[in-house]
Amino acid sequence: MDAVCPVCKQTMSKSGDHYHCAQGHGDFQQEVVCPQCHRPLEVLKACGAVDYFCLHGHGLISKMRVEVCYIPC
Ligand SMILES: [Zn+2]
Ligand SMILES: [Zn+2]
Repeated sequence: MDAVCPVCKQTMSKSGDHYHCAQGHGDFQQEVVCPQCHRPLEVLKACGAVDYFCLHGHGLISKMRVEVCYIPC
């Protein structure tokens, strides 16, 4: 999945643990949010698998359903 700048919608390059927009919009961090309430999810790591949990009543969210957004860092 390509990381896309939220400002200019251009593909960003990865540098370390964050993404950089070549058009000058700065650095962004990837964040997973609930597909229903769009709030950040808790990450649960167990036995090499990663699950996501919504603290706002939507329960466990599988990796296939999470939405990814990019926040400035
Ligand atoms: Zn940009
Ligand atoms: Zn939720």
